This record gives sequence, C-alpha cells and structure tokens, in this order.
Amino acid sequence: MDLAGYNVIFGLVMFFLATLMVICCMGNCETEEEEERNQREALEQRAARALTAHEALAARRAVELQLKQAAGPPVHAQLPYFPYAEAQGWESEMLCAICLDPLRQGQLCSELPACRHAFHRDCLGAWVKSKGSCPLCRETIVVLGSDDVAVAHDMV
Ligand SMILES: [Zn+2]
Ligand SMILES: [Zn+2]
Repeated sequence: MDLAGYNVIFGLVMFFLATLMVICCMGNCETEEEEERNQREALEQRAARALTAHEALAARRAVELQLKQAAGPPVHAQLPYFPYAEAQGWESEMLCAICLDPLRQGQLCSELPACRHAFHRDCLGAWVKSKGSCPLCRETIVVLGSDDVAVAHDMV
C-alpha cells in the first residue's frame, strides 16, 4: 500500500473519530437536556407531591378530628340510665317526649342530669346524635367527666 492509501485510511479514521466525537457530543447534549427535563419533572413532581402531602395532611387532620370526636363514647352512652320503675316516685305514667310512648316498668330510661327530664334510653340516644339539647326544655345536654365531650361542646 502506498502513501496515498495510508492517507486515505488516516483520513477515514480521522473522519470516523470526528463523527464519533460529534455523536458523543450530541449524545451528551441530549443527556444534559434529558437531565434538565428530568430535574424539572422531578421538581414538578416534588411540588405536586408537596401539594398532595399538604392535602393529605389536611385530610388526615380532618379525619383525625372526626375520629377524636367519635373516639369518646357517645354522649348517650355516658348518660346515667336505669330500668324505669314506678316505685321511683314518678307520676304513674310518664311519657317519653321523643316517641310519645309511656315509660313502662322495666324499660331502660335515661335522665338528663341538668333538667332531670327522663326518656327512653334508645330514644334519647338517637336524639342526642343530632341535637344537643333536651327535647322537652331545650336545656343543653352536658355530660360531665369527659374531656372529649367538654372539648366538643366548647367548639360549638
Ligand atoms: Zn321513647
Ligand atoms: Zn329537660
């Protein structure tokens, strides 16, 4: 092979190397671009996550608050209750103002501590779930001895 042949081969090799470098460079550029895009996406994702985390936290707090309010025994479960007995000195026929049925011997009744009005325990239980006052005299139903109820009451 003569000198010209070597030159051609050298030229080809150089061209090949140059092409390789260009490809590498382009590859690098692409990689950098891709990296930048990835970083941007990561940032956006992190922002989205932060937002979601914030929302999740807010939602969790709401749920925790609900749970905390629901955690304590229901108000009516803390009210004193007893089987109705005429012997307790009440009028011979007392009506439950919620269902308008008489309180009968042996039926479980609850008496509101504040006003001493008495109702069927189940009737009062259903009542205090939606209302916080006595069905007869509107006296606020307060159960002492439970922080949860006191807190819930303060917040209203
Ligand atoms: Zn009743
Ligand atoms: Zn009352």
